[in-house]
Amino acid sequence: MSKRDYYEVLGVDRNASADEIKKAYRRLAKKYHPDVNPGDKQAEQKFKEINEAYEVLSDETRRRQYDTFGHAASNGQGGFGGFGDFGGFGDFGGFGDIFETFFGGGFSGARASRRPAKGSDIRADLELEFEEAAFGVTKDIRVRRHEKCGVCDGTGAKPGTSAKTCDKCGGTGQVRYRQNTALGRFETVRTCDRCHGEGTIIEEPCSQCGGTGSTLKTRTITIKVPAGVDNGSVVSLRGEGEPGERGGPPGDLYVYIHVKPHKTFKRENENVYCEIPISFVQAALGDEIIVPTLDGDVKQTIPEGTQSGTVFRLRGKGIPRLNGRGRGDQYVKVVVEVPRKLSQQQKELLRKFDELSGGSAGHGGKSIIDKVKDAFGV
Ligand SMILES: [Zn+2]
Ligand SMILES: [Zn+2]
Repeated sequence: MSKRDYYEVLGVDRNASADEIKKAYRRLAKKYHPDVNPGDKQAEQKFKEINEAYEVLSDETRRRQYDTFGHAASNGQGGFGGFGDFGGFGDFGGFGDIFETFFGGGFSGARASRRPAKGSDIRADLELEFEEAAFGVTKDIRVRRHEKCGVCDGTGAKPGTSAKTCDKCGGTGQVRYRQNTALGRFETVRTCDRCHGEGTIIEEPCSQCGGTGSTLKTRTITIKVPAGVDNGSVVSLRGEGEPGERGGPPGDLYVYIHVKPHKTFKRENENVYCEIPISFVQAALGDEIIVPTLDGDVKQTIPEGTQSGTVFRLRGKGIPRLNGRGRGDQYVKVVVEVPRKLSQQQKELLRKFDELSGGSAGHGGKSIIDKVKDAFGV
């Protein structure tokens, strides 16, 4: 039986607005109403057709379904008149997907629900000292996760009893419905509502886990943090997450690293930065200073005439690279400190020093070279 297109029936465009559809319907309904056409079989047929078309096109959802699937969709929504006829429907299996699409919800999960599923991943946080992050460390962390119930061994059934095969779906977890439509017969598959797709029913649930087969446990897990991790690094432990379902693999544990700040060192990627104060005498005359590093103190030569803010690089004294290939560097910035308190004698000496420098040390900020240049007018 071929059905006329609903838009054609109402004589409207496919893009017609709800208002246009309503108007077209009223006009046609008036024209073909049985009261106006008593005894006219054709008019009666037309009137039915118009009503059917309007019923679908005036409903936004049904109209959308009709636009996508044509008459099959509108029939799907309408009366199927029971699920009585169970004859060879194998050929129509493909339509099941269409019905799943527009019925949405529980259908799509029907077939997937009994497959093994990987467990959920868990997140944990771990705070590390600066040095622990740099060189790696082994730590114990506590994680709350579900584990197989020890009382029922994960079955969910009270010890001594066992789960029974669901009598509604015969253990398949799904129930098939066959439906007759104008286009033919369709088969739809739904998740069994008795066993919720599990295929088994627990009549006497385990009292420990309430029939779920798992209990929440706090576990201590030892984690090996590799050298070179930084703030925001994530260390993953495979298989330490939530248990899988129906024999699926467990999820993973993701440990997010937080590194505490260090009182001396700052870090940027694999390089370490620090500032060391030196006296202006050390800066002027040069000296050998002690610099702390992650590996302990090292000696650093300060050459004569070092300026404040000068940066020295200590090769290989930084953070080990995560990939294991070498280490970053340490950058040492020397900051010249100006004495805050001087004795009379010290002041005397500085004035003398200033005189010897031609007055440049304390006033005007010009260097000796500049003064010489000025004097010679270069
Ligand atoms: Zn249990
Ligand atoms: Zn069932």
